[in-house]
Amino acid sequence: MKLKDFRWSTGLFLILSPLGAIATLAYYFYYDAFQWQTVALAVFMTFATGMGITVGYHRLFSHKSYEAAAPIRWLLTFFGAGALEKSVIEWSHDHRNHHRFVDTDQDPYSINKGFFHAHIGWLFVKRGTNGRAKVDINQVKDLWADPFIRFQHNYYTAFGLFVCFLFPGLVALAWGDFWGGVLIAGLVRVVFVHHGTFCINSVAHTWGKQPYSNRHSARDSALAAVLTYGEGYHNYHHEFPVDYRNGIRAWQYDPSKWMIWTLSKLGLARNLIRIPDEKILESKLEMKASQLKSGKEALEQAMEDFNTVAGEMKQTRKAYIKAQKEKAPVASELRSTLKRKRKALLAAYKNQKSRIREASRSAAVA
Ligand SMILES: [Zn+2]
Ligand SMILES: [Zn+2]
Repeated sequence: MKLKDFRWSTGLFLILSPLGAIATLAYYFYYDAFQWQTVALAVFMTFATGMGITVGYHRLFSHKSYEAAAPIRWLLTFFGAGALEKSVIEWSHDHRNHHRFVDTDQDPYSINKGFFHAHIGWLFVKRGTNGRAKVDINQVKDLWADPFIRFQHNYYTAFGLFVCFLFPGLVALAWGDFWGGVLIAGLVRVVFVHHGTFCINSVAHTWGKQPYSNRHSARDSALAAVLTYGEGYHNYHHEFPVDYRNGIRAWQYDPSKWMIWTLSKLGLARNLIRIPDEKILESKLEMKASQLKSGKEALEQAMEDFNTVAGEMKQTRKAYIKAQKEKAPVASELRSTLKRKRKALLAAYKNQKSRIREASRSAAVA
């Protein structure tokens, strides 16, 4: 990296802020200066700004995986700014390029340039160098149309610094702890949120399983999910980026998904996109079969069983959605047919999975 390409303000902040956070914590522990209200505010700000990124910047603005009511869009734009990860416009621009060019030179945080680059190094250099393109508004036209997002972008430095530091300071003033608000719920919290987000680009592209695809480096990791408000199921996410869920199983830790689902139940979000089960299971089977060294042809024939049930399920779902829209009485009947078909689909999936396992065992013996 040439010195003239170094982004001094961002670079120095990213280097000095963790040191400041450590010094703050040392001071507060040594002098036992914590106030419980400020600690509670820091926890609130961690989730509000962290999920401003995951629920807002990422799943709503970058991927349009659901639609949100205007006040929710405003709140996500407001608190997301406090994570100090640049404006919605810049963030979404980079993130759309990350998906489009994943693992190539045009991926702004390509893991192929190393763990450090993907985690934080990419932020140290100016746009237009090292694969990070200059902002092209055409790529984020949909977001640019939103006046509040435009405002956030045009005044980002003041906006971001206000939400990050001054806002928690002013709230904590209510119990006389302005500096606690600025330092604990501001500085310490933002360092924590930064590295949580950064782990998605580094940890979730390095460690974990690849159940859906190995065409990209993204991986599913429960550990990363805990650090990133549910974004750790990254192999799934790269395969199906428009799904509002990252952890698709009910037990997978994905608070961002739970938040979006809750908003939809409150009438504040709608048109949540879910990839159909048959498509998800199909990609899992294909991934497993692709790792076989031999016997792929026989498995392809057997895959027809699964494909038949999957096709029927797709048709039934189409008919159900149509009936539901038209409020036709047949909708409830179709709903139970769909449930039955889902069971059949899971059975066909299990069958095919055991065939693949069998084939891999016999290949190992041979
Ligand atoms: Zn990624
Ligand atoms: Zn994404």
